[in-house]
Amino acid sequence: MKHAILTALLLATLGACATSPRKEASMRRFGIVIHGGAGTILRSEMTAELESDYRRALGEARDAGYAVLQRGGGAVDAVVAAVKVMEDSPLFNAGKGAVLNAAGDCEMDASIMDGRTRAGGGVAIVRRIKNPIDAARLVMDKTSHVLLAGTAADDLARSHGLAIVDPDYFKTERRLQQWRKARELEQRKQSTRGLHERVSDLAGDPELRVGTVGAVALDQAGNLAAATSTGGRTHKAVGRVGDSPILGAGTWADNRFCAVSGTGHGEMFIRTTAARDVAAHVEFQGMDLDQATRAVIKNIESVGGDGGLIAIDRHGNIAMNFDTPGMYRAFRLSDGTTSIAIFD
Ligand code: ASP
Repeated sequence: MKHAILTALLLATLGACATSPRKEASMRRFGIVIHGGAGTILRSEMTAELESDYRRALGEARDAGYAVLQRGGGAVDAVVAAVKVMEDSPLFNAGKGAVLNAAGDCEMDASIMDGRTRAGGGVAIVRRIKNPIDAARLVMDKTSHVLLAGTAADDLARSHGLAIVDPDYFKTERRLQQWRKARELEQRKQSTRGLHERVSDLAGDPELRVGTVGAVALDQAGNLAAATSTGGRTHKAVGRVGDSPILGAGTWADNRFCAVSGTGHGEMFIRTTAARDVAAHVEFQGMDLDQATRAVIKNIESVGGDGGLIAIDRHGNIAMNFDTPGMYRAFRLSDGTTSIAIFD
């Protein structure tokens, strides 16, 4: 049973268009929106302590990104700053606290996109880079490629001096418990179904993929950026790559339209080119971000997926839509509006 799509939309206008260019620049709206994953986040399973930990971590991540924007920094720097806070927190399924694959290892994916140029970078199946989002940025800034996978990506990060850690650094007791639960679930499903159904069914289970992180930002110069980082889903096949490192699926940014980061059933986000489709709805159908993100989530549902999308446009309009019971999310805009939320 699908839950109704929930909306947190904040509309705003620049209101500074008639002023001189210098004045306009100084009055330009800016802000950041983040997510910490969407999935089966049940109030009944959330203790007051855990909820306050999540809220604190979301606030820290959001404010780290916002601080970059406030001092005049770029949107790319802001989304990296926000995502790194969540990668460093064991609460989220990215960096430390990433979920474990079928072999009990962490294989992480991340990507970033710069709306000024539509330059982008991603890494997939990385196992040793402390902050995969830094490696995605490295691919964008220092290579002529868009996506690097496996040990080559780990090696690139090492050769550029990024922090490299032992693979055990990422593993937490909580993820180990989820992994055991997923293994039991898979064993039960294996006894009743064919191989194809087993794999695809488990990939979609919302309980097994909570916590991917992402950020979208608009800076004072009017530039947009998006970043996404994840451990994927619990007990995924070794070598499985989701939507998060793929531009157009989990991440998209184009100054002309919007910046988008997604979380959810990765295979379906890839099949529906989810993040790019949000921008396409804005570009070709003139939709606002609320309409565009809702339409894309409906399309994801039509192929059997679910999840959430955050977006921001060059005017500072934002959307945070999802069709799961909850999505960890927060935003802060330069007009003072701010929020942290988990459930609908
Ligand atoms: N989209 C991620 C993936 O499929 C998982 C998630 O966002 O929960 O890898």
